[in-house]
Amino acid sequence: MERQDCSLSSGRVFFVGAGPGDPELLTLKAQRLIAQADVILYAGSLVNAEVLQHARPGSQMHDSAGMRLEEQVALMRSAVARGQTIVRLHTGDPSIFGAIKEQMHALDRAGIVYSIVPGVSSAFAATATLGIELTLPGGTQTVILSRLSGRTPVPDSERLRELAAHRSSMVLFLSVGMIDRVVEELRASGYGEDTPVAVVYRASWPDELVVRGTLATVASKVRAAEISHQAVIVISPALEESGTALTSHLYGTAQDTPERKESTAIIALTRGGAKTGRRLQQRMLLAELYLPARFAQGEDATRPHLNLYTVSVRQVLQSAFREHTALVCIMATGIVVRELAPVLGSKHTDPGVVVLDERGRYAISLLSGHKGGANVLARRVADLVGGCAVLTTSSDVQGIPSVDLLGQDEGWIIRRGQRLTDVSAALVNGDSVGVFQDAGGRGWWPDPPLENLVRYDSFDALAQASPKAAIVISGRRPPTAFFEAVPATVVYHPPCLAIGVGCKRGTQAQEIIQAILETLDSNNLARESLLCIATTEHKADEAGILEACRTQGWSLETFTSEQIAAVQGLPNPSPRVYRALGVWGVAEPAALLAAETDALLVEKQKYAHVTVAVAVRRKG
Ligand code: SAH
Repeated sequence: MERQDCSLSSGRVFFVGAGPGDPELLTLKAQRLIAQADVILYAGSLVNAEVLQHARPGSQMHDSAGMRLEEQVALMRSAVARGQTIVRLHTGDPSIFGAIKEQMHALDRAGIVYSIVPGVSSAFAATATLGIELTLPGGTQTVILSRLSGRTPVPDSERLRELAAHRSSMVLFLSVGMIDRVVEELRASGYGEDTPVAVVYRASWPDELVVRGTLATVASKVRAAEISHQAVIVISPALEESGTALTSHLYGTAQDTPERKESTAIIALTRGGAKTGRRLQQRMLLAELYLPARFAQGEDATRPHLNLYTVSVRQVLQSAFREHTALVCIMATGIVVRELAPVLGSKHTDPGVVVLDERGRYAISLLSGHKGGANVLARRVADLVGGCAVLTTSSDVQGIPSVDLLGQDEGWIIRRGQRLTDVSAALVNGDSVGVFQDAGGRGWWPDPPLENLVRYDSFDALAQASPKAAIVISGRRPPTAFFEAVPATVVYHPPCLAIGVGCKRGTQAQEIIQAILETLDSNNLARESLLCIATTEHKADEAGILEACRTQGWSLETFTSEQIAAVQGLPNPSPRVYRALGVWGVAEPAALLAAETDALLVEKQKYAHVTVAVAVRRKG
């Protein structure tokens, strides 16, 4: 079938992508063809009736839902015979689970000319709603669009567990009704229980619904939301970091990760608990205290940060869980477990929850011990009320560094899509873990040292040792071969790269940004590790540099001519710069000064109007 010009439309069939639902996601071409069509065939439930409003008066419309293939083809044939234009509307894009092949075959046999007009797939409406990029810089570069086998079989080599083994981004169609099997398959591929999974029902429709969960929770959440069809399932490393950005515009997403304000809630239930709660709050003045109204005292009604409740403790716990970043629940552990169970998300997003007994003897870190801060909070609460903190996370018990917090206070950035859980498990289980660190502070190294944690002095040496897992702390990106040698690797990028920049007056911000990013990328340096832009005081008011820093969120350090002139032994002194500014260079000495070092990592790179050099700050 050769390509046909869509403007010559009479006596023709068009398979047209109608988009995911939102009528504005129709292409202009689809809209024009609908307007010209004599006959329109559409799948009732999935194509939005609003797109049919573009049809001209008098056109025939047929819902294909109840029609067999032969009937549809017969209809197309007789319309073509009358010289009419037929539009067959498909949801999303016709090439994905559109079952157009059989129709095209039948049309080929009948000698009928047809074309396909692409559309926006529901996969992309869903990812837009989730606010994620399926392909991650420095992470997965692959998207798998697939389904679970149902009535339509799936080839063995494409079983979900096989596909999932790639750890790529996946969008699953036609499968939400079998969510339990999806979860089983993902588990069989070795995905951990806390792997984020998102389900988007009727993406881009007014009644769109998003369910975010983990491998452990998603099936029950999908059932609770009564979603059995018209939804895609998204599994992607990108979900690890998405979550709050777009939830406010979503419809009916009570179970999703909400925006929480940084605050602690202290919630008491009994008379004794209320007393302990008051005592604790006197020492944590900014915490919100929630007490049953029946234990109110004289001035309570006017006291700031004191909330008296008459509703059930379940309501108080669940709404505090949504609104605060940390909870101290003064009551029995069982109550907290039972009442919070329905609203649990993942350890990456849930607030830290500490349970304190009403006498204040034990502060138990119950949920989100690391990232949610419950371990730290339990210690603090125990200190404040004179009790004892109870921590059960393995790394804390064994004095093992916790990989999700490593370097947090120094601003290290964890490269996306990394294997935190695998590395953490290897550490805790005593498996070999190799370390390469050429930037950032070293204070995290456990004391006494762990036998299974071994340092190497290059990527190569570490890859060759091929330990079970690896920790890389560097401003550089490990080469791809490294991840092949040690797939279970977490990479931390400390802010350590000082970028020296020189430029001609009036250089555009865009050129400066590009020169910097290109220098980093071509030297396998991580953009996440950018510490600052450094230049001479003469450029402190250079509009292009200022705009580059402002738009990229980079900080700017400037050095006086004396400081720059005092830097010795530049690899690339420039007589031209010397004549203009009285110093032998700008990019190189500024990078060295900002990094407080005497060796460059990348010598001066020259672009049209910009020079860039890079130095690493070694000390943390
Ligand atoms: N060609 C379509 C897919 C058709 S198969 C496309 O590109 O989107 C039908 C499946 O698509 C449904 O079972 C569901 O998994 C998915 N689907 C279609 N519309 C959807 C929507 N608006 N939101 C979420 N999933 C949708």
